[in-house]
Amino acid sequence: MPSVYNWQLGRSMGYPYEEASPNEQFAFVININRCIGCQTCTMACKSTWTFAKGQEHMWWTNVETKPYGGYPQHWDIKILDKLEQANPGGQRWSGSPNGDTKRPYGRFDGKTVFEVPQAVARGDQPNQVLGYLPPDEEWRFPNMYEDTVQHGQSKPMDFGQGETLDGEKKHKAWFYYLARLCNHCSYPACLAACPRTAIYKRPEDGIVLIDQKECRGYRKCVEACPYKKALYRGTTRTSEKCIGCYPRVEGKDPETKGAPMETRCMAACIGQVRMQGLVNVAQDNTWVEDRYHPLYYLVHVAKVALPLYPQFGTEPNGYYIPPRWVPISYLSQMFGPGVEDAIERYRNPDRELLAVLQLFRRSNQIIARYEIEPGPKVYETELHDKKFEMYNDTIIAFNGKGQEIFRTDVEEPVHVRPSSHANTI
Ligand code: SF4
Ligand code: SF4
Ligand code: SF4
Repeated sequence: MPSVYNWQLGRSMGYPYEEASPNEQFAFVININRCIGCQTCTMACKSTWTFAKGQEHMWWTNVETKPYGGYPQHWDIKILDKLEQANPGGQRWSGSPNGDTKRPYGRFDGKTVFEVPQAVARGDQPNQVLGYLPPDEEWRFPNMYEDTVQHGQSKPMDFGQGETLDGEKKHKAWFYYLARLCNHCSYPACLAACPRTAIYKRPEDGIVLIDQKECRGYRKCVEACPYKKALYRGTTRTSEKCIGCYPRVEGKDPETKGAPMETRCMAACIGQVRMQGLVNVAQDNTWVEDRYHPLYYLVHVAKVALPLYPQFGTEPNGYYIPPRWVPISYLSQMFGPGVEDAIERYRNPDRELLAVLQLFRRSNQIIARYEIEPGPKVYETELHDKKFEMYNDTIIAFNGKGQEIFRTDVEEPVHVRPSSHANTI
């Protein structure tokens, strides 16, 4: 099996195809701290792409309440369990988070879904990827167990490192919303598993697509995708998945006059928690330094945004700012070793981070670069035992053509309702 470099794991790994990288890579950051679970993103995708017969239970993007929610049900617990069974006690990281963009989270010493295929061998034909096919009933709801908290009445769950979040011990209730879509992975498991080579990664933007003319509905992609974001459609007997809203990314929507536009699920976000981007990647899919690209800044400079289940090995291009109120052991399993530092930085944002956070959802255009114009100090306090200073800086966003898209200030403007409308709410 060829060897490819996975920077999220800090090491090379086996993958069925030779290393290849796109000119730019579709990527996104979702700030979990501000997601209100309204499912507007979910419905924006559904009403655009999956409203036809046979797609009734198909949700290319969904928002699930963690820890219990999942679409399909228990997708992450099941694949984590399979990996653990294949490599008992070995799914661990070594080293520690650092400033090296080639291995920022240390090194994952366990096995990825590509490295234990013998575990799912069927007959004489070993699969290329560890996975499973969810039964129909597990695809019924996009967010079953909505707003179900983890608390003392629940069955105790072991979240790793021996910590039990049973109410007797912690008396702590928590949940959070995890908005998910296809991660347009750098090493897609769906693509690796397709015996028809019907799945391809676009060289221009890294968007992963299923060629509907080539697909014969074997569902190998459904089985292999550890995030379960390839889905089967009975009426066409083919698999379908998120298409990254590629006409918008290509700038085909008249609104942006040829400039790349954010996808439907990103642009519709009520909570303003999503930001999409196209990042420059090197031949080994590590990110090329692009200091004032907002995604590069959030992932590699501020390090507040972390990949979803990096240990699966697909190098997902979806990144999350983890929630502040959830036990670290649970979050570390989901986002890797960088969680503690990411939360600490988010809780005590510095001047630049505070400015970059203002970029989320101010425009439908994809932001390629930002600049900050310093403003006056407007506020000072103590936050979590640390000094916190707020400056009313102006942040300016540019598109891929170098054109200014918008500028906004850190301090939110105050609008005073005219007295003539005082009681008209
Ligand atoms: S998330 Fe799944 S469907 Fe999407 S590219 Fe990765 S492996 Fe394929
Ligand atoms: S990027 Fe487009 S196709 Fe993909 S989940 Fe979002 S809205 Fe749906
Ligand atoms: S639209 Fe935004 S805030 Fe609402 S559920 Fe989706 S990601 Fe969360």
